[in-house]
Amino acid sequence: MSRIGMHFSLWSPAWTEASAEQAIPEAARYGLQVVEIPLLAPQTINVPHARDLLAAHNVAPSASLCLPEDRRATSDPAAARDFLLGAVEVAYALGCRFLGGVTYSVLGYKTGAPPTEAEYDAIVMAVRPVATRARELGLTIGLEPCNRYETHLLNTAAQTLALLDRIGAPNTTVHLDTYHMNIEEKGIGEGFRLAGARAPYIHISESHRGVPGTGSIDWEDAFAALADIDFAGDMVIESFVTLPPEIASALCIWRPVALDRYDVLDQGVAYIRRLALKYRLID
Ligand code: MN
Repeated sequence: MSRIGMHFSLWSPAWTEASAEQAIPEAARYGLQVVEIPLLAPQTINVPHARDLLAAHNVAPSASLCLPEDRRATSDPAAARDFLLGAVEVAYALGCRFLGGVTYSVLGYKTGAPPTEAEYDAIVMAVRPVATRARELGLTIGLEPCNRYETHLLNTAAQTLALLDRIGAPNTTVHLDTYHMNIEEKGIGEGFRLAGARAPYIHISESHRGVPGTGSIDWEDAFAALADIDFAGDMVIESFVTLPPEIASALCIWRPVALDRYDVLDQGVAYIRRLALKYRLID
């Protein structure tokens, strides 16, 4: 069975003890089984505090990140690799089984040219040793294709699958996100069907990043495809109610995407839960 989760940015731009103490009990009250922790600065997280809090409320953690400005995989694969290796250790210590997001690039970084073979080779150099270490720790690594305005490197499921083949590690996966798929795939259902079992963890995000069910995403198409591929992984709602300034800037999110977090928790979670039930992804 699938699990429904929420990205931590619903509550706060950064995981701190105080913001986590507000978010995790609330996530549990809304029946959310997973909270995705942003690991933009992995070393700042108080791991024992986080583990205790998550365990006390029976909420499972997952993790995501994008590479920092000075750790661009395409120009400095060793620096990107070392950052990712550090993040993998923190994710494991937190109890995560999945670390995804823009693990291959700096969000918003574009060269103004098509991706090159040298850029893909550099990403393979950065990610392959990370996947090896992650596998020892029982972790899966996701590479999230993003829309063309946020990266020139991976925009579609097909491009990402091709890069995964080059990386050649069984625990690397396509981290699909309906927001990006809505812009880049021929259809959201088609993207999910193409990736199949290689997309075991996904982001559920409305066309405007706000409350799921209030935008232009074809959710019936999305969930019908998830049912067809026997999706049994985590579906994590990503609604950027709060964002750190560098991410707001990279995503050009300057207007509130929802009234407040309860808008997403009350309406959005219920909407996704109804669909997941209808398509028998949860019970
Ligand atoms: Mn996403």
